[in-house]
Amino acid sequence: VALNSLHARDITYQLHPYTNARRHEEVGPIIIDRGEGVYVYDDSGKQYIEAMAGLWSVAVGFGEKRLVDAAARQMAKLPYYHTFSGKAHEPSILLAERLVKMAPNGLSRVFFTNSGSEANDTVVKMVWYYNNAIGKPEKKKFISRISGYHGITIASGSLTGLPINQRGFDLPLPMMKHVGCPHHYRWSEPGETEEAFADRLAAELEAKILEEGPETVAAFIGEPVMGAGGVLVPPATYWEKVQEVCRRYDVLVVADEVINGFGRTGTKFACERFNIKPDILVISKQLTSSYQPLAAILFSDKIYQGIADQSAEIGSFGHGFTTSGHPVATAVAMENLDIIEERGLMENAAIVGEVLQAELRRFADHPLVGEVRGVGLIAAVELVADKATKAKFDPFGKVGAKFFQQGHEHGLIIRAIGDTIAFCPPLIITEEQIREVVSRFARTLKDIEDFVAT
Ligand code: PLP
Repeated sequence: VALNSLHARDITYQLHPYTNARRHEEVGPIIIDRGEGVYVYDDSGKQYIEAMAGLWSVAVGFGEKRLVDAAARQMAKLPYYHTFSGKAHEPSILLAERLVKMAPNGLSRVFFTNSGSEANDTVVKMVWYYNNAIGKPEKKKFISRISGYHGITIASGSLTGLPINQRGFDLPLPMMKHVGCPHHYRWSEPGETEEAFADRLAAELEAKILEEGPETVAAFIGEPVMGAGGVLVPPATYWEKVQEVCRRYDVLVVADEVINGFGRTGTKFACERFNIKPDILVISKQLTSSYQPLAAILFSDKIYQGIADQSAEIGSFGHGFTTSGHPVATAVAMENLDIIEERGLMENAAIVGEVLQAELRRFADHPLVGEVRGVGLIAAVELVADKATKAKFDPFGKVGAKFFQQGHEHGLIIRAIGDTIAFCPPLIITEEQIREVVSRFARTLKDIEDFVAT
């Protein structure tokens, strides 16, 4: 490797997110240079099928000229303006209106942030502010689930229920509590039905609320289908039951659809699929296909009225980012949603999603496959050391890491979550391209059979 190569300079200058820095110093980066549709190409010209849509996010695929043009038009007209102190601009107004019209459960107001983490951090502050407004300042605690992912700021990283985001960071904050993970394959008792498992999880949530004191518990937050925790589809009746518990104790329900939103699970929002009636909904990623950083919090009129009263009393809603509702990001989101609607991409996700789910389930009998799961265009294959006992590989994650690396050899980008292989391709993917993903997956799995045997 030449000393002045991009590869060498990356090793010299960058600290990468979610990367073992010492290992990176040895192996360096794969430099992705360009993208087209469901494919990306590295700086040597090698093609990869992007079966993760980047980070669960590039709905319309790579190289979408309409988004480039929308960004350029807005850059030329008004590249930046803020939304503080009563200022507004057209793209953010139009997008807020459009999102409210799309939203489930009559959610009627929007607040923009740049990222999912900032959005969830903002949710915590909004809920506190609202509870102060309605004279319940002691209602501060949030409950989330083990293996849930809500981001990495101090507050959102505390809501997250994954050790990697908390070890070394002195998280979670003491007011953030976690309850059991709704993953039947790993967390149910032997012989327990999905419904009985859901009953047990709802009872656990209720016990946690009572233990903490309902007067101190503000909200429950969850991804309808968990993503980063391993693509975990909840057991039947789970969401109905946990919502019932939340309502009983005046605990707000927050749906984190940062991954699920805009057709990923086969419906516009996963809230529709699972009959979730959230007080607050968080969206990002596919909102702009991640061509621009943008997230949005949609919330009920009840919460808006409380916040509005409190802001009048204090003098201002003292929260917001320099780039909240950024004109280029919101203009790109509008064009992105146009493309999703015009091309029927949410409907496509439901149709070709069936193919992805069926094709991957053909591996269910493979000796290394513990579980195949997913819904719509999000899926996972969990690899195990022992199919009968569900024993994990030792060390945990080594086989997944090898799969991830070996996938690159076959021109396949997946995500390894421990030893679980996750898929979340762009919504534009065709049936033929899904078969290509699965065939590259099968070839990689063959290599892994040899790796595990040695
Ligand atoms: N919430 C969910 C469900 C996510 O999957 C993510 C990111 O993957 C986040 C929040 C955090 O978003 P960001 O990485 O934009 O901060």
